Amino acid sequence: METTSIHHDNRRVRPRRGACRRAVAGVAGLAALSLAACGGGSGGSADSDEAVDYPDQEITFVVPFSAGGPTDTVTRLIAEPMSKELGQQIVVQNVEGAGGTVAAGQVATAESDGYTVLIHHIGMSTAPALYPDLPYKPLEDFKPVGLITDVPMTIVARKDFEPETLEDLIAYVKENADSVTLANAGIGAASQLCGLLIEQAVGVDLTEVPYDGTGPALTDLVGGQVDFMCDQTTNTASQIQAEKIKGYAVTTPEPVEALPDLPTTAEAGLPDVEVGVWHGLYVPADTPDAVVEKLTEALAVALEDQNVIDKMADLGTAPVPPEDVTPEAHTSKLEEQIDLWTPIIEDAGVTGT
Ligand code: ASP
Repeated sequence: METTSIHHDNRRVRPRRGACRRAVAGVAGLAALSLAACGGGSGGSADSDEAVDYPDQEITFVVPFSAGGPTDTVTRLIAEPMSKELGQQIVVQNVEGAGGTVAAGQVATAESDGYTVLIHHIGMSTAPALYPDLPYKPLEDFKPVGLITDVPMTIVARKDFEPETLEDLIAYVKENADSVTLANAGIGAASQLCGLLIEQAVGVDLTEVPYDGTGPALTDLVGGQVDFMCDQTTNTASQIQAEKIKGYAVTTPEPVEALPDLPTTAEAGLPDVEVGVWHGLYVPADTPDAVVEKLTEALAVALEDQNVIDKMADLGTAPVPPEDVTPEAHTSKLEEQIDLWTPIIEDAGVTGT
C-alpha cells in the first residue's frame, strides 16, 4: 500500500475542535477545514465510539524538521508498516521552525482524536530549558505513544576542511574560533545540543549557522558552505561512506557498525560529548487511551518489520527493544531526559526565542 506523501509547506496542523471529523477528501482539505465546515461541536476529546472505530480515515504524522533530514527519514521508515497495520494512509507533514518547537506547539493544541501524531526526538526534553516561553509542556500536553530508535550522532565536516581527526578539529577550532562555522537545525535541535556540548568541552564559542533541519544543513556541508556540524547517522552515514563529507567520530559509547572507521568521542578526546538522539511518537494529552493503544501496537509491529530493521542498520541505528515501545517507557525516558538536560542547558546559558 502506498502510504506516505510529502508536504514541504509550513501549514498549521488542524487545531483542536469539538466533534469535528477529519476531512477525507485529501490533505489539502486539512488546512482549509473550518469550524463551520465541520458543523461545530461541543469541544473535548474523541469519544469512546471513535476509539473503537479508530482509525477510519487518514492520519497525519507531523515532522518538526525539513523533509529529507534524519527525523523525516525515520518517520517515513515507520510510516509505511504502521499504515499497513492500521489500514489507513499516513500523510507526512513537515512543520519546520524554532528547533522543532513550532510543530510540537501545534500538535499540543491539535484535536485529540489520534489523527494528528507528532514524531519528535531528544528536543522534546531540552526545549523547556531552552525556551522560557515555550507554548506547551512536554509532560502535560502530550501522551507519549512509544519510543522508536536511539540514533547515534556523528561529528562531520566539509570534505576539504583542514582538520583530519577529532584531535586536529579540537586544536583547529581553538585556534580559529572566530572564523569556524558550525551548522545546526536551530535551538532545540539535536545538532544544536551536540554542538553546544562540543563548544563547552573545547571552551569555544563558534558562529552557528541555523537551518530548518539538518537535511538542508548537510546539503550545504557537502557544498562546502559551512565548516562542520553534529548530525545523526540517519543523515550522515551514506555521505561519510561516499566520502562526500569527512567523519571525525560517533557520539556513542560504542562504535557504530555502519561506520567502522570512526572512533567514539571518548576514544578520540571528547568524552563529554556523548549523546543519543532518541525518538518517540506523541499525541495530544486528551487522546483516548484506546486510540493510543492502537498506535502503540502499530508502532511495535513496524519496529519488528525486517525492512525497517535492515534500513535502520544501514543508517547506523536500530529499533528500540520491544519493552521500550510503550507509553510508560516513553514517559519515563522523557522525565529522565528533562532532568538530565535542564541543568546542563541552564549552566550553558543558552536560550531560544
Ligand atoms: N532532527 C533534525 C532534522 O531532522 C535535526 C536535528 O535535530 O538536529 O533535521
